[in-house]
Amino acid sequence: SGPQFPLPANEPEVHFGKGTAAAAELSQALAAREVVEIPTVIGGKRYFSNDVVEVRAPHDTQRLLARIHRPTQAQVDEAIASSKAVARDWASLTHASRATILHRAADIVGTRLRMKINAATMLGQSKTIEEAEPDSACELMDFLRFNAYNAQRVYAEQPMSVPTAVNRADWRPLEGFVYAVSPFNFTAIGTNLTTAPAIMGNTVLWKPSEKSALANYIFFEALEEAGLPPGVINFVPGEAEMTTRAVMSSRDLAGIHFTGSSAVFQSLWKEVASKVESFRTIPRLVGETGGKDFVLAHPSANASEVAIALIRGAFGYQGQKCSAASRAYIPNSLWGEVSTQLRDRLAVLKVGDVADPDTFMGAVISQASHQKLSRAIEAAKDDAGVTVISGGRTWSEPGWFVEPTVLQVSDPKHALMTEELFGPVLSVFVYDDNAWDETLTLIDATSPYALTGSIFCTDRFALHRAESVLINAAGNLYLNDKPTGAMIGQQPFGGGRASGTNDKAGSYLNLLRWASPRVVKETY
Ligand code: GLU
Repeated sequence: SGPQFPLPANEPEVHFGKGTAAAAELSQALAAREVVEIPTVIGGKRYFSNDVVEVRAPHDTQRLLARIHRPTQAQVDEAIASSKAVARDWASLTHASRATILHRAADIVGTRLRMKINAATMLGQSKTIEEAEPDSACELMDFLRFNAYNAQRVYAEQPMSVPTAVNRADWRPLEGFVYAVSPFNFTAIGTNLTTAPAIMGNTVLWKPSEKSALANYIFFEALEEAGLPPGVINFVPGEAEMTTRAVMSSRDLAGIHFTGSSAVFQSLWKEVASKVESFRTIPRLVGETGGKDFVLAHPSANASEVAIALIRGAFGYQGQKCSAASRAYIPNSLWGEVSTQLRDRLAVLKVGDVADPDTFMGAVISQASHQKLSRAIEAAKDDAGVTVISGGRTWSEPGWFVEPTVLQVSDPKHALMTEELFGPVLSVFVYDDNAWDETLTLIDATSPYALTGSIFCTDRFALHRAESVLINAAGNLYLNDKPTGAMIGQQPFGGGRASGTNDKAGSYLNLLRWASPRVVKETY
């Protein structure tokens, strides 16, 4: 039998142009002054511990948006027990029943919660609507529909039978629960980290970032309304430390689905390894982590296209995407034009309140991030090997603002060319036009991360050479396009080296990690 669900189309973006009904509805949602009490949810029950973390708008730190009730130790233990209690029932549902819940959740977000979840993402994570709509509406719905679709591709995969034996694969989930740890930067990532294991029949303990918990909670409620049985996904916001400790000491931890920093993922990996015999089954570790993503221009490239891709790729959402362009390699012959365009175009881009439709960039996520970026920019100003091409200012009233900053770096091995900053700072190395091959080798050798990369080039011979030298330097490579904005179903996403396990979010490859098939041979 063929798939029961047809290949979904990507959810189209709603346009919020000035004067549209959508813009009016959105500004109403943005103006709501309600302070949301976010509980821990276990087995469908809501717990308000009164051990509270406040969520404030990063671009307006006076504005209180929500209070997260962190779980107690006993509640985390209860969440683990609850995941175990409902595991059998969830696993024994048909794929169609599970998929129907995901589809229903997508439709609920699309028809009734779109403005609310966009507003929560804009305020809580400081995103403009141009960045929020593709994330918390479109990509979120795409993850639900494509995970449902791709699961049936996995289930359809069966071994061969012969006249003397019928062989079959039972696509069981993992034995135990999956710990999903989601980041602040994309609301939709929380959706994927939870529903990819869940569609394969696993139960999930979800620890969203505190910074995105507001939008993530709206999605969680949509899942409940769509009919997700209590306990299949338990919502456990708050700090990671205590929750991670409890999870690690459970014999039933069967997998971790993680997006966040390389350092945290590596520490989770080490901890699992150090006590691997304590788990019933060897946990599957799936992580998408940091990036130091390159944009490489060939002398044959068009300077305006390169400048625009750099601006959108490096400064969209303040550069806080794992996929963000953060280092560029520009040939000497193009640099005059590219740098002039960068300066001119950046000078007129507005940094400020994300509710203002003219704003291009909001604030960075936190004071800690602001401090780290301010320090890096100040150090760059004092560095004789670095020239500030554009930007360089930071300010902290009324929120955590950093100007889009372009730095020209004379040493291609400088930390600015290799270390992730996760903010609106782009480092540029200008190479000699005749040094294409050397530049390719250099990029590969200075890529501790390998998530995304872009090559702008109209010379096919040079392009092929670049693709082959850079075979391991990016899991998602863009030719003549910016390195951000992967679409579900079109560009399965993930990279290698320190960027993670490259289990391609939004594809059946990721879903395979959440299944442990039993193969049955029957003879007569
Ligand atoms: N998928 C996103 C993109 O293509 C990046 C995800 C991330 O930052 O983890 O831009």
